[in-house]
Amino acid sequence: MPGYELIDNKEFLEISDIFKKSKTLFRMGFEKQRKGIFKVNKFEEKFTFKLKSNYGLAVSSGTAALRVALSTLNLKEGDEVITQSFTFVATVEAIVESRAVPVCTEVDETLNMDPDDLVKKISKKTKAVIVVHMLGVPARLDKIKKICKKYNLVLIEDTAWGCGAKYKNKFLGTWGDMGAFSFDFAKTITTGEGGMVLFKSKKKFEAAKAWHDHGHENNPKVPRWEDTRKSSGFNFRMTEMQAAVGLAQLKKLDFIVKKQRENHDKIWNKIKDIPGITKRLYPAHSKISADALIFFVKNRKEAIKCRESLIKEGISTKILPEAYTWHFAKEWTHIKNLRKKHRNLKKSFNRSETLIKKSVSLPIFVKTSNKKIIKIEKALKKVLK
Ligand SMILES: *Cc1c(COP(=O)(O)O)cnc(C)c1O
Repeated sequence: MPGYELIDNKEFLEISDIFKKSKTLFRMGFEKQRKGIFKVNKFEEKFTFKLKSNYGLAVSSGTAALRVALSTLNLKEGDEVITQSFTFVATVEAIVESRAVPVCTEVDETLNMDPDDLVKKISKKTKAVIVVHMLGVPARLDKIKKICKKYNLVLIEDTAWGCGAKYKNKFLGTWGDMGAFSFDFAKTITTGEGGMVLFKSKKKFEAAKAWHDHGHENNPKVPRWEDTRKSSGFNFRMTEMQAAVGLAQLKKLDFIVKKQRENHDKIWNKIKDIPGITKRLYPAHSKISADALIFFVKNRKEAIKCRESLIKEGISTKILPEAYTWHFAKEWTHIKNLRKKHRNLKKSFNRSETLIKKSVSLPIFVKTSNKKIIKIEKALKKVLK
């Protein structure tokens, strides 16, 4: 799972740089006082370089990253944005907050967007697609990218769970026009709260940078209050303290992902021969971030039994089965706009429901003892005789 396991003196030293030297908590301005220390700028630069992207904009959360990405599309009331039915509620919230109508697709055995269903959901009003790499497994990116190109749709990747993962040797979050990342406390690397948007186009990056800062065009030659603006915006800025933590965490990303993959494989090798378990499908040429290991059992009843048995051994599950209602669009009757296209929400996404309901998701940690892995095996064997 996460960077939070590895918080140590490195994060502390980055933060103390601010309190000892720059004494500046704001990302912009204060040039004289800050003694050349720009943590947010540096975090954006290093993150963008690491993932081999063109432009990066740090923001206050992963949800903000999605909202800021959507701000570059100038969406009008009634425009549609398609995402997948299995995601965190934040993806749909960002679409609603952008005045667009959210439309969701079924997921397939990868538990990510089903490209065939995507084609069916495209209408004249569709402007963009947000594909989600749920819990660190790449979506079928080449197919989805082709579809977006054919229909002239902007592709945004919700890479909240995919930081450090690759598809066909290219980092997730750099396949689409934009990639949105989350650094909340449960994600692969963390800044407490925080996010990042990666951009291919300079124009979109500049528009987003202004929009996330009330429209400020940030001309370094004039004081901030003399900045020009072309549009209104909002405030989704990252603070210097978040970025300081991010700089230290970013240096740990390779290690985190490497360890998680190792532990993922160790766990899978222990449980793969238990009858009645099938692993979620990973598209060929995937290099997962291994935030979780999801497998299918017979039905929801059995999935819940697995969780109970795991808990008895002191092992948790992650999202499935316990947080199902926060991660499946069928359950979001409280989001009125979602019912604009899915009039009978409770009767939608039946194929996805079958898959999600029989899923068990194990969290993967950087630090996992062999003892724990044996306990996982024991707990699952009890249920799946
Ligand atoms: C965590 C998450 C987000 C939102 O990120 P926050 O930083 O918590 O706002 C968005 N989408 C998905 C799929 C997530 O898991």
